Amino acid sequence: MTDPRRALPAVGTLLEYEGVQALLRDAPRSLVTDAARDAIDAARLQPAATPVDAAGWSAAVRAHVTRRERSTLRRAINATGVVLHTNLGRAPLADVALDAMREVAGGFSTLEYDATTGSRGSRHVHCAALLAELTGAEDALVVNNCAAALVLALNTFADGRDAIISRGELVEIGGSFRVPDIMTRSGARLVEVGTTNRTHADDYRRALSATTGAIVSVHRSNFALEGFVASVSVRDLAPVAAAGGVPLLYDFGSGLMLDLAAWGLQGELTARDAVRAGASLVMMSGDKLLGGPQAGIMLGSKEHIAALRQNPLARALRVDKLTLAALHATLALYRDPARAVREIPALALLTAPADGLQARAQALAAQLRGGHVNVDVVASDATVGGGAFPTARIPSYAIAAEAALEPYLRDHATPIVGRVTEGRLLLDLRAVAPHDDARLAARLTEASMQHATGAVRPDATA
Ligand SMILES: *Cc1c(COP(=O)(O)O)cnc(C)c1O
Repeated sequence: MTDPRRALPAVGTLLEYEGVQALLRDAPRSLVTDAARDAIDAARLQPAATPVDAAGWSAAVRAHVTRRERSTLRRAINATGVVLHTNLGRAPLADVALDAMREVAGGFSTLEYDATTGSRGSRHVHCAALLAELTGAEDALVVNNCAAALVLALNTFADGRDAIISRGELVEIGGSFRVPDIMTRSGARLVEVGTTNRTHADDYRRALSATTGAIVSVHRSNFALEGFVASVSVRDLAPVAAAGGVPLLYDFGSGLMLDLAAWGLQGELTARDAVRAGASLVMMSGDKLLGGPQAGIMLGSKEHIAALRQNPLARALRVDKLTLAALHATLALYRDPARAVREIPALALLTAPADGLQARAQALAAQLRGGHVNVDVVASDATVGGGAFPTARIPSYAIAAEAALEPYLRDHATPIVGRVTEGRLLLDLRAVAPHDDARLAARLTEASMQHATGAVRPDATA
């Protein structure tokens, strides 16, 4: 066996090739040099795909220039069937939210300026009144995300004191969010009560003491507990906290603002229900079912919200004008619930009738088969994702294609992300905007051609 590395050209040699010289006329030399190095590294990793001539090497260098030029953060098409996919950026924003961000970000704004009095204002006012109006809470505060909200709440009310929580709620929510870790970091002493499957009101009562700072309740947002189970609802926990003279901090999570039972999504509280249940503070995300930007929304009484605002940590966890603009515009849509369901993409995607998805899938499949791409239409179960309705299955339809196409669709300027099940690639249309159908068809055709002609699998290169 000969060592394939011996056959690889030097970077300097590649830079002499005519095709690479052409690249150097448009792109900075350092970028092209790095791309040439990438091309050589890729050939080393996959000797079979080593270019055989100057034209081949030039094309490889060009491909690596393109790869280096594109941002790692870019638009993607979500064909996973998980609508609020945390890895894919959770909720897409409504048009009015995008407009509001553009309006406020393109110039100066009244972020901390009160135009009525001509004096210094507070960024905390911008969404507070609207949140109060929509949820029935007295006041509100917006911070960076729900994890930040929990840190701020615990640090404000239970720093150096006990925070009582059920063992059934010491959960992990997404990659790097574990409730016990966050609680400890906020300065609170964790006091666990009950058991994994059963916790009773008396468990909390017995744990109350002079050193208690707060009782914490965490919504079960990504799993369900079944069988021999018992937990104490926020409604039943509120009087326990009140009797102990401590606040009840409710990590509510989803940010659901409307009852979606009419669309088959049942059993979750809305933000208004959560406030009404009697917690001192309700905390939720802005970019889950609320359908807005990443944010942590805190709802509560005037006194509790004032205490949060006075905590120096509130300054460290504050949101920027883009978030406030997008959140305000999204929230305003909820004044007309029908409009909210139509215009907030997360809700529009979740509530779209399945037969419409089926018709789109069939039209796509017919078009693809016309182009000799072998696909089927299959019924699929989509999920909500993002911290609500963990067990709900939403009827959907998917295009089923050869699993080998997956890397070609994914590793691209606009990745299309599906899911591979039982050897097939399923592209679920539940979270695909109808205006992306044409692109989906074009890319499937292209991927199928690349695969058929034995083009190098993109994920096999460095
Ligand atoms: C999603 C979720 C969080 C984390 O929210 P982020 O906004 O991502 O920080 C916290 N608690 C619950 C119950 C959640 O569902």
